[in-house]
Amino acid sequence: MKYYILFGPPGAGKGTQATAMKENYNLRHVSTGELLRNEIAAGTELGLKAKALIDAGALVPDEVVEGMIESLFNSVKDVNGFLLDGFPRTIAQAEALDAMLAKRGEEVTAVVSIMIPDQMIMERIKHRAAIEGRADDANEDTINNRIKTYHDKTEPLVEYYKKAGKYNEADGIGTIEEVRSRIFGIMDKF
Ligand code: AMP
Repeated sequence: MKYYILFGPPGAGKGTQATAMKENYNLRHVSTGELLRNEIAAGTELGLKAKALIDAGALVPDEVVEGMIESLFNSVKDVNGFLLDGFPRTIAQAEALDAMLAKRGEEVTAVVSIMIPDQMIMERIKHRAAIEGRADDANEDTINNRIKTYHDKTEPLVEYYKKAGKYNEADGIGTIEEVRSRIFGIMDKF
């Protein structure tokens, strides 16, 4: 199995690019944000707890998302691999992922990072808010907190995966097609 990590700040276009990536490489797309939004929509206890954190632009506890990922690894079989979108988001999650994969005799195949400058994040998210209607896209304070959370907690993963020799970056500026062909250029190497 291949284990790709789709990395990048909020609004970089991960969700948009993930659709083409999963189809082209027969991967199971796993978005922890989407799984959490499904829990909220279903009104589960987990969803209720997650909602307050998501609405504040904070992260949900590591164990919650780690559990979601591990159960998918155990149940999904008929694909070439996984495309992890929005996970890992902390060093602790990256270490937990390494441990989960080591247990299965596997490892992260590659990180594909879509990079856009901070100034573009707000603009992209506001544009998406009008299309997708996500609650956490509608409030400027929430967006600013997500950007801060990204820099404080998630960006250190760049160094983590560079050290592991797994980090690859695609410039996220340009049309959807331009960014997609940069990403495919990276994925074709694995
Ligand atoms: P996303 O759809 O990836 O932008 O995620 C939306 C929100 O869900 C984030 O702002 C977090 O509150 C929460 N979330 C998603 N993935 C994770 C994760 N791996 N760890 C912690 N919180 C997460």
